[in-house]
Amino acid sequence: MVMPTLIDRFIPQDYTNNRVFLKKSNHGFFDHQDYHVESPVNGLSTPKQLIGDALRRRVENIDHEQCAPGEEDTFFVADLGEVYRQHLRWKLNLPRVKPFYAVKCNPDPKLLELLALLGTGFDCASKAEIEQVLRMGVDPSRIIYAQPCKTNSYVRYVASQGVRQMTFDNADELRKIARLFPDAELYLRILTDDSSSLCRLSLKFGASLDSTDSLLALARELGLNVVGVSFHVGSGASDPNAFLRAVQDAHVVFQQAAAHGFDLKTLDVGGGFLSDETYEGMAGVLRAALDEYFPAHSGINLIAEPGRYYASAAFTLACNIIARRTLEGDMSAMKSVDGTMTPTSMDGNVETSYMVYMNDGLYGNFSSIMFDHQHPIAKVLRAGGCTLYDTPAAEASCGGVEYSIWGPTCDGIDRITESIRFRVTLDVGDWLYFEDMGAYTKCSATAFNGFTNEHDVIYVCSEPGARALLGM
Ligand SMILES: *Cc1c(COP(=O)(O)O)cnc(C)c1O
Repeated sequence: MVMPTLIDRFIPQDYTNNRVFLKKSNHGFFDHQDYHVESPVNGLSTPKQLIGDALRRRVENIDHEQCAPGEEDTFFVADLGEVYRQHLRWKLNLPRVKPFYAVKCNPDPKLLELLALLGTGFDCASKAEIEQVLRMGVDPSRIIYAQPCKTNSYVRYVASQGVRQMTFDNADELRKIARLFPDAELYLRILTDDSSSLCRLSLKFGASLDSTDSLLALARELGLNVVGVSFHVGSGASDPNAFLRAVQDAHVVFQQAAAHGFDLKTLDVGGGFLSDETYEGMAGVLRAALDEYFPAHSGINLIAEPGRYYASAAFTLACNIIARRTLEGDMSAMKSVDGTMTPTSMDGNVETSYMVYMNDGLYGNFSSIMFDHQHPIAKVLRAGGCTLYDTPAAEASCGGVEYSIWGPTCDGIDRITESIRFRVTLDVGDWLYFEDMGAYTKCSATAFNGFTNEHDVIYVCSEPGARALLGM
């Protein structure tokens, strides 16, 4: 059986002296796509080569004709160097804002360890998350319990652990806190316009601006300690102006709080940042808004709760093809209402297509399709005895053979891709891979139908700085 966390085994010695050069993009900000990793030993190598190496070593050692049950299971390769680069990119773009990583997004222990070493705080929403972070030796002051509707017993727990920062957005919660943890440091979470985000949160959480004044009055009356304002523009936000409006609203609430005699110290701008090239624009609008409404000389601390931003691109997922169904005739014919298969496509030619079944799906790490509105794109890792990672043959093509891709459970909803074409012919035992699988994937996977949700993570690290921190 292949064991998890084969850190040493999967760091090729050739990479130990890599140096990374961070280049500036045309916008003057750090562009994470634009790096080179120089290896004095081997000439140029890239993070992709490091990830590809780890993937290749693992899959080339698995023979599906011989292996024990589970050896062909899905697995991740995590490049912790990507997390490190994201942290530098954060600091370049939002130097005044201290990130508190949202643990729910991906509570991978190595990822958390690196972030703890880099000095971030942590946004937790449950006892288990708080416990995990405290067990790493992180000081309780670096945790915010950012769940506006908390469990009584968890509030007693955090009080006993000295985790004081927490959010609220309604009067009942204030009375709960007054009873269970009157010394807590409270952030009033306000409502935002999250209409342009992937996962809307304002339906469930956030005080509207016409309720904030009375909430502050109640907090005063109960003798509670309100220290800041927080918001979240929705996970996977795409409209930078949502940040501008939220900062403006927060500024109004700071003034309301002052009128009630509170001296608010901190603004928490929440999460929602994507890790793709939209980040710089988003961060730029937020930075300008903060400089206008909460300038450095105001002395207000700024924090944020990014999750997806740090985790998404660091994880690549490899899945094994466990079964294949050959269809004579095209897919649209296959999907006709009465279930009959017509062996001809529209232009009259017979085209063979396939349904391929992988050992991971919607109930597993592709839970992100359901819960996080993602569309993971399959690429071919290994087919016909050749490893194709990061080659043109790995990519979906316009021509070639048509596939639909399915998960392993018995539920018909468990489909990953309706239609995709590759130049290669896929068969049982071949491997597919999916990039950007670090956010809201493994953490919301289930063990439905008896398929495991405990998949190995092979760690690599394309940044010497991060390797030094982690002692890798
Ligand atoms: C989920 C969540 C986050 C993280 O959101 P991302 O979109 O992953 O950055 C931050 N804060 C709160 C309160 C959350 O619920």
